[in-house]
Formats: sequence, C-alpha cells, structure tokens
Amino acid sequence: MNDTYKHSEVTESDTTLNAILDLIVEGTWDWNGETGHVTRSPGWYRMLGHEVGIFQENVFTWENIIHPDDYKRVMAHFEQYITGQSTQYLIEYRCKKSDGSYLWIIDRAKIQAYKADGTVARMIGAHHNIHNKKLAEDEVCKLNKLLQQDNMSLDNLIKINAKELENKNQELEEKIREVDLLSNIDLLTNIANRRSFEKELKKEVLRSRRYNHPLSLAIFDIDLFKNVNDTYGHKIGDDILQKLCKLVSANIRELDFFARWGGEEFVLIFPELTVKKALIATEKLRTLISQFEIEPGLYITCSFGVTECTDKDTIEALFQRIDKSLYQAKSNGRNRIESL
Ligand code: GH3
Ligand code: MG
Ligand code: MG
Repeated sequence: MNDTYKHSEVTESDTTLNAILDLIVEGTWDWNGETGHVTRSPGWYRMLGHEVGIFQENVFTWENIIHPDDYKRVMAHFEQYITGQSTQYLIEYRCKKSDGSYLWIIDRAKIQAYKADGTVARMIGAHHNIHNKKLAEDEVCKLNKLLQQDNMSLDNLIKINAKELENKNQELEEKIREVDLLSNIDLLTNIANRRSFEKELKKEVLRSRRYNHPLSLAIFDIDLFKNVNDTYGHKIGDDILQKLCKLVSANIRELDFFARWGGEEFVLIFPELTVKKALIATEKLRTLISQFEIEPGLYITCSFGVTECTDKDTIEALFQRIDKSLYQAKSNGRNRIESL
C-alpha cells in the first residue's frame, strides 16, 4: 500500500510541504488548468477510505465521487467561481467513500493563476470532513420539526381537551338537572314525589298566609289495593297506579299539585280552594275513578281525606289532620271523602 505521497511538481526543497500534506487530515487538491492534471494529497484519499493515489489524477475522479443529488449544485458553484461570477469557492456536498457510503465534506478553493486568455491556470483547494457536524445538524432539524409538530399537537390537544371539557361540563349539567328532576319525580308514575310535595306544600302554605288566600289539601288511598295485586299480579298493579295518575292529572287544575305520597297513597294541594271547594274537586275525582274501567272488567275506588290550612297550622298538624280524615274515610266504609 502506498501510504506516502510525493507531489509530482515539488522539488527536493519542498520536502517540508510534502511532509505536511502527508500528515494533515484535510484532503488537498491542486488542479492545473493547462494540463487538466489534479494532484491530491494523502489526506484526500484517506478521508474517503481509499489507498493513496489509486485514482487517475484528473477532474473526472472528482466528478465521479460527487453524490448525484449534489452534482449539479457543485458544478454550478464551481462554474460561477472560475468564470468570475462569484468571489469564492466554498461548498458543502457529499463524496463517495470506498465502502459506497457518502461523506459530507466542505470544499474550499482559490484560483492561484490565470492563463493569458483569462481562464484558470491553477486552483488549489481542500476537503474538510464535516460529516458529524452535518448529521448533528440533520438531527437538530428533525428534532425541530418534531418539536413543531409536538407544539402543534399540544396546541390541538389543548383545544380538543378544552372542547371535551366543555362537552363534559354540559353533560354534567344535564345529568345534574336530570338527577334533580328524578329526585323530584316518582319513577313509576311520573308525577311529583313526596320530597317534591313537601317542598311545594311549604311554599304554598307561606303563599296562602302572605296573601291571605285559602289553601286546601287532600290525600287519597286506593281501596283494598292489596287484593288487586293479589288477584291480578304486581305488574297490573303498577299499570293501575300509572293509569290512575294519568286520570287524576287530567282532571285537576293547572294550579293544583299532585304527588305520590308513597305506595298507593297520593296527595293533592289545592291552592286558592276552601275546604268546601276542595270537597267538590275531590268528589269529582272520586266519582271519576270509581267509574273508570281501569283494566278490562276492573274498577277501583279510593278513599279521600280533605282539610283546609288554617293560619296557625304547622305542616305536621296539617298532615296529622288529613291522615286522620283518610283513616275515617276508610273506617267509614271506603270510596268516600272525609274532612276535618
Ligand atoms: P286499604 O283499603 O285499607 O287501603 O287496603 P289496601 O289493601 O289498599 O291497603 P294495604 O296497606 O293493606 O295494602 C296496600 C297495597 O298496595 C299493598 C301493596 O302491595 C300495594 N302497593 C303499594 N305500592 C305499590 C306499587 O308500587 N305497585 C303495586 N303493584 N302495588 C303497590
Ligand atoms: Mg289502600
Ligand atoms: Mg295505603
């Protein structure tokens, strides 16, 4: 293997220069524009993993090792410099190595002499290995791109999450409304439940006192409903409860408040009604129910307790009174109304 190299045009007195060229890792080249001869330093060959001096000493050697994707750009740059269109020759490109891979180099050169016609007579240059720097740059570039993408996706993520959060909030609000509604409504019959009734009653009692308006209250209970359940089954029993509620709801005023007290017991608030008028209203309901064929061939009856709210009534006192009147209606034979 030819490890050393002797510059063809240097004399013995230039041995120092030869020694330097032999040592430095930079690959130098020296192009003679008159003959087309190119002298390359050992560093030039070593950089590309070649044995020193194995190539022909002309420009084609150089052209053949330039990466095809860089070739045009390099030639254009070279052309510009040697024709005086640019003031410097300095370019980064890839050169083919002995193993077929490509090495990024930076090529710097300077015209040393011109021919009589103004064209280049001599140009000297150097290749410097910038492969690692280039790879690092590429890596930074890729990372920057990823970072940009990440930033974007982070932005998007924030937007998406904000939207999702908004949707979730809406869902939650709906659920709260639903739960609130459900907690005020009896699931089987779809009318107000006891909790709702108690709230409403408090409100109505206060209102009747504030305006000194009458207020009456009724409770009713299906007569011998246990028998109905026992005979027709619990499912029919449920259907009956639902149908009864529809019937009653359809036959009270908008103003009246109808609720399921529990089991087969229901309550009614009659705002603005004296006990006298409440008795008329409940009598209408009692008759309607008793005449309503709730299931084929089946009729039910209800017993009612009615009372009017007085100035001094507490809620508890009111309840006690209508409870007592209902009990009386039951014990007096059912399908009837009692008031206290
Ligand atoms: P009374 O005339 O004295 O009120 O007799 P009753 O049989 O109606 O009274 P009791 O308290 O002995 O029985 C009430 C029945 O109501 C028992 C129970 O099975 C029925 N019941 C209560 N709630 C429901 C319900 O949600 N669905 C059904 N199907 N039945 C119910
Ligand atoms: Mg009953
Ligand atoms: Mg009962």
